[in-house]
Amino acid sequence: MSENGNGLEMEIQYLKGVGPKTAMLLAKLKLQTVRDVLYYFPRRYDDRRNLPKLIMLRSGEPQTVRGRLIKLDSRGTKGGKVLLRATLDDSTGQVSLVWFNQPWLKRELEKARGEIIAYGLVREGPGRQLEISSPEWEWLDEEDDSDDFARITPVYPLTEGVPQWAIRRAAKSACQFFASQVVDPLPNDFRQHYKLPSLAWSVQQLHSPENEDSRRSAHRRLAFEEFLYLQLTLQIRRNQVKQEIGIAFPISQLDSLDVAPISLFAPQDQASTTLWEQVHKMLPFQLTQAQERVIGEIWDDMERPAPMNRLVQGDVGSGKTAVAACAMLAAVRCGYQAALMAPTEILAEQHYANLHRLFEPLGITVRLLVGKQGAKEKRAAMEAASSGQAQLCVGTHALIQEGVQFHKLGLAIIDEQHRFGVVQRLALRQKGIGNPDVLVMTATPIPRTLTMTLYGDLDLSVIDELPPGRKPIKTHWKLPSERPQVYKVVADLVAEGRQAYFVCPMITESDKMQTQAAEDLHYRLSTEIYPHLRIGLLHGQMKSLEKEAVMNAFRAHELDILVSTVVIEVGVDVPNATIMVIEDAFRFGLSQLHQLRGRVGRGSHQSFCILISESKTEESNQRMKVMVRTSNGFEIAEEDLKLRGPGDLAGTRQSGIVDFNVANLIDDGALLEPARQAAIQILTDDPGLSLPRHSLILEEIRKKRGDEAMIVVS
Ligand code: ADP
Ligand code: MG
Repeated sequence: MSENGNGLEMEIQYLKGVGPKTAMLLAKLKLQTVRDVLYYFPRRYDDRRNLPKLIMLRSGEPQTVRGRLIKLDSRGTKGGKVLLRATLDDSTGQVSLVWFNQPWLKRELEKARGEIIAYGLVREGPGRQLEISSPEWEWLDEEDDSDDFARITPVYPLTEGVPQWAIRRAAKSACQFFASQVVDPLPNDFRQHYKLPSLAWSVQQLHSPENEDSRRSAHRRLAFEEFLYLQLTLQIRRNQVKQEIGIAFPISQLDSLDVAPISLFAPQDQASTTLWEQVHKMLPFQLTQAQERVIGEIWDDMERPAPMNRLVQGDVGSGKTAVAACAMLAAVRCGYQAALMAPTEILAEQHYANLHRLFEPLGITVRLLVGKQGAKEKRAAMEAASSGQAQLCVGTHALIQEGVQFHKLGLAIIDEQHRFGVVQRLALRQKGIGNPDVLVMTATPIPRTLTMTLYGDLDLSVIDELPPGRKPIKTHWKLPSERPQVYKVVADLVAEGRQAYFVCPMITESDKMQTQAAEDLHYRLSTEIYPHLRIGLLHGQMKSLEKEAVMNAFRAHELDILVSTVVIEVGVDVPNATIMVIEDAFRFGLSQLHQLRGRVGRGSHQSFCILISESKTEESNQRMKVMVRTSNGFEIAEEDLKLRGPGDLAGTRQSGIVDFNVANLIDDGALLEPARQAAIQILTDDPGLSLPRHSLILEEIRKKRGDEAMIVVS
């Protein structure tokens, strides 16, 4: 076999100890070549060097046990299930393995041969006998050789019909004969500098670690490498955009002769007073310092010839819309069009209403483009966009559809970026002339580690201040039995002239059931609880026009209470609504609860959020407690990441960017920053990764981050 790593492409059926039959089994895991097996890593390990004697077992901990199968017993339970109990004995003590409703297991266990090894949470069962429920287990004689037994044994993720021994055997053989052929893409001195062991060693150690330290060090090496490739991809994309020629909006040259510099924050550049002055006139409030800073950052970007690619992150209610409006104003004053894309029609309409109100007095035309519009209306909006008659366009995905054209789109803004993917961002950008500036805004506070990962190709601006006069929202967790009390509080606030949201339980099964739940709640509130109040209903199955009518009525205070599904989650802004009651709050994730809560606390009145939730699981209680404790979005995001893992965080799934093989954003988060620094360093020395020492790295990036990387690395 060759030395250049070609052996890794060999089919596994030719591996010593594997053969065609086992290879067929492994094909179910999509393992075909030696390389596939080498990179298919264990999910965890059994430390069998030191198995506890059964007499030493403790209840309450996951442990590995070993013993002879001395009894197999299967019986029906009262609940109509079949309970299978296998008792193991090692002459010091006994432990039972129990399963429910798995008849085929009985047959499997009846073929008794030798000893069983099993792993799982040990608990005290009936008669104080220790037992493990639904353990992982296997016959011991399936190991190739018995002296192999006393080691840290890898446990691989499996799929149905693939036994643990099959993948173990293949991995062992692959490591033994081929690990040494693994070629390391990272140069030696680089590895030394970051204290990373070689790839060959690391792969081999991950499959059968000598000890915990070497496992950790091998894991660190592979995680670092994955982060490095991601960061290189992002940094390359970022650098590439910066080299492109975009639009240099002549912001500071805007005519200022007839305007006195009245700005409080006295811009350095006298000439830019015009625009600031216009901003002050346009907005009905004073900008916060954070808003001003971010607007400054955006305008600076716009003025540079390189295209802007900036993320504005600001917690719910921090005033991102005003920031967007200022960016749009700058674009228009420089003679360009701007477009704002939002994820839902409700939100697009709200933005449209706000922007229309702000820009109309300045003689700037804003048009709305959403899917529900009639053909005629749509055509008119599209014409206004393509002729340039509309300087500003607001819309949903409708904006990026085929056929939508702009006269001179210079600035594309995407609101609530986490609802869109990179593709949509690019699609809107492509509607622009040349390389338009792109601004994306997100209210989803995400931990810094994730920002670096998800948006590492963007420059970041953070609005870290809420508009003044906001009183922190008071959040309470109430049990269902305390509902009457909650209803009373809502009634009192409504009597004072405030409005309320009731968010009905989230039912994931279907839209229909979700609607049903909302209708039920609406019915109960309007007939039993508040027959004298005006109560509206909003759910996802309503037609856009109906939704709009309800939202308008609520905004105009023609309704006291709005019963809604999560459709109000994003962006809805009614400052007079000061209390939100969330039913079955345990069904919502933390970031969703936080988004929902952001619908109140938008005016100067004290606002409340009531989470109605029974005590369900430890994890859901934890969520309620976090919500009561803090309203800081970033803190909530960190907790969310801890409780749920990154896969479920908003936006991460569509992006696919957190699909690492080895790395894990929670446990390995600390490696991200050094990996990013390393990526920046590499690219400073070798911007195109064209040096021979980086050729393998470039190859890996192309392979691993295919499509994304292709956008830039070509
Ligand atoms: P988000 O960042 O969640 O999109 P919005 O842009 O919807 O927040 O702003 C939330 C509310 O705060 C709106 O009613 C808006 O008019 C108001 N607002 C924004 N900035 C300020 C400010 N500097 N002073 C007072 N109110 C503001
Ligand atoms: Mg917003």
